Amino acid sequence: MPLFDRYGRPVLSLRIQLNTTCNFKCFFCHMEGTDINGEELTPEEIEKVVKIAHDFGVNKVKITGGEPTLREDIVEIISRIRRHITGNISMTTNGTMLPKIAKDLKMAGLDRVNISLHSPDDERFQFITGTRMIGRVLEAVRSANQAGLTPVKINFVVLKDLNVNDIPRMLEMAAENNAILQLIEYETDREGENSEEYRKYHISLTPIEDDIKRRSIGVEYNDLHNRPRYLMKNDHGIVKVEFVKPQRNPDFCAHCTRLRITSRGEFKTCLMRSDTNIPFKGVSDEEKLKELFKMAVSLREPYWKPGDEQAEETYGTAVFDSK
Ligand code: SAM
Repeated sequence: MPLFDRYGRPVLSLRIQLNTTCNFKCFFCHMEGTDINGEELTPEEIEKVVKIAHDFGVNKVKITGGEPTLREDIVEIISRIRRHITGNISMTTNGTMLPKIAKDLKMAGLDRVNISLHSPDDERFQFITGTRMIGRVLEAVRSANQAGLTPVKINFVVLKDLNVNDIPRMLEMAAENNAILQLIEYETDREGENSEEYRKYHISLTPIEDDIKRRSIGVEYNDLHNRPRYLMKNDHGIVKVEFVKPQRNPDFCAHCTRLRITSRGEFKTCLMRSDTNIPFKGVSDEEKLKELFKMAVSLREPYWKPGDEQAEETYGTAVFDSK
């Protein structure tokens, strides 16, 4: 039986940040809510906490960073997680190391990857990521497919006046590579909405979604966050397009079933908050670790709730939870 938080949301998955080091410098990056370096969790510590989470009904894991593939012990970490998790283990990565290690990751028990690719254009890619490694990322998509890390999802953060017009080409690329295209809204906390970057580049995905919906031949819903996935037909067959619209969105938060783990060894109840982090690094006693896990679940709270002024400004007062 999973644990439920005070808002009736079960905790079914872990999002584990393995490091804060990255070889890209995406200007909008939220760093999974933790960018402070600290001593990273060891593979043994990760395995221990995953085992405890599994005892509490968690059976799905997403690995993230920093850039998780920069950890030299990444393959060992995956295999230790796989000892306990029978459900989906996936990883979000910029892909630059995948051509070298995709097969080893698959053998260790990784099911699939999300590869971040925010523009198909060299110049825009460099502007966004601060690197010229687009070739390596495209190669990574092919390597992931060859290794069976499928379905590959391409993560594309939509940025106003920067890469919005790349969406049609991204649809083609996703189709050519048999990948799911995941269009992600630029998200930030309440204070971050005042930053220059956010004001310049945030764009609502609703009109884009409406257009794709109109042209789609069907829709599915993902159980995490109730995300819609549209089926589009093109010359290459059927492409799936997912929308991730977290900003000011109580429906998104109402369907959040994940607990986060920071690279420094804290349970983190929400991407947008650090004040409810529960440190556990160095705690070896299993019972104590279980208590801390339960405490973290009990502190979980939706960041955006119905009735929130900003949420209502964006999504109105509609009753949520209606698919
Ligand atoms: N380095 C890895 C990568 O590139 O996928 C993993 C870490 S990165 C923080 C995980 C995902 O979060 C990437 O797809 C990234 O584009 C996305 N992301 C980062 N900052 C974001 C933001 N402010 N809003 C929406 N998505 C963001």
